[in-house]
Amino acid sequence: MTFYNPNARRIVVTGGAGFLGSHLCERLLAAGHHVLCVDNYCTGSRANIAHLMGNPFFEAVRHDVTLPLQTEVDEIYNMACPASPVYYQADPIQTTKTSVLGAINMLELACRSKAKILQASTSEVYGDPQVHPQPEAYWGHVNPIGLRACYDEGKRCAETLFFDYHRRAALPIKVARIFNTYGPRMQANDGRVVSNFIVQALRGLPLTIYGDGNQTRSFIFVDDQVDALIRLMETPDLVTGPVNLGNPTEIPMLALAELVLRLTGSRSTLERHPLPSDDPRQRRPDISQARSLLLWEPTTALEDGLSKTIAYFEQVLSFPD
Ligand code: NAD
Ligand code: UDP
Repeated sequence: MTFYNPNARRIVVTGGAGFLGSHLCERLLAAGHHVLCVDNYCTGSRANIAHLMGNPFFEAVRHDVTLPLQTEVDEIYNMACPASPVYYQADPIQTTKTSVLGAINMLELACRSKAKILQASTSEVYGDPQVHPQPEAYWGHVNPIGLRACYDEGKRCAETLFFDYHRRAALPIKVARIFNTYGPRMQANDGRVVSNFIVQALRGLPLTIYGDGNQTRSFIFVDDQVDALIRLMETPDLVTGPVNLGNPTEIPMLALAELVLRLTGSRSTLERHPLPSDDPRQRRPDISQARSLLLWEPTTALEDGLSKTIAYFEQVLSFPD
């Protein structure tokens, strides 16, 4: 539902037709803001934003953020970039360009418009972390020439650009280090573990365990993530981040597979596959900063979030478009 907001802002969401971006557009519109979704639809889809198209405060434009953009704007959420290892490695040069040139173009837009800008950075800046859990002060352990580097180093360079624009141009910036986020509107063939396991379980296919399955991740439900992103954008200008946004509940991939099997009631088996190169062994956010700066913490338990995501995929798989 949209209501009149006398403090409505003009907000650009790059990557607004993607998984996270579409939820963000929805929440910003519901708060009464004017939203311009900027997307080249490489991993996003019009289906993700179809329900927003009738909203007079919503516009969508096909645009690649590696090219400059001219518009009037008060706030920018820079979400554009494929997030699934399968997709960001499919065209690694475009991935680096999206992170680096996309950041420059959006930072220039923010400077011209005197807008506040938030960067969707990632826990991947910590690489295969040797400090556990990961606080923001940890500089990370990234292979700069590996298969994941196009994403990890692209995002690290984007953070550098954000802080240099902040220092040189006094631009208000917010850097969010997003940890693994899941929920409705992930693509069924996205390649990330949550969507893979759920879709495989619902189809009665073997669940693909990469490596020994003892590697861990910490998963946050999309509603909690979007809440945190909006809270971060609304902090005073002196708050720049980087701020970890994730759920500290950590789980090995084998345990995740078993949980998905239990929640779906599936009789699928488990199938071993080679571990992709540079796959981080462990990942868990230290969210002390988010707790104190945003007065926030995730509230959706993994079982509840997975159940909602399973219900979504049941519908998608029954009525494919
Ligand atoms: P997604 O792939 O669903 O969405 C990314 C969107 O960006 C898509 O709509 C895609 O079409 C668009 N896009 C990609 N390159 C573009 C370009 N050059 N120009 C314009 N649009 C472009 O991924 P997501 O999970 O929604 O992730 C959104 C953002 O959050 C990404 O920047 C990602 O790096 C970051 N992030 C996500 C996670 C996660 O677990 N979902 C974790 C860490 C960081
Ligand atoms: N993974 C897996 N089976 C899959 C997909 C992924 O075991 O079908 C593993 C992957 O090797 C990694 C973890 O699950 O250790 C999370 O992978 P994802 O691609 O979701 O995110 P990321 O590696 O970027 O955190």
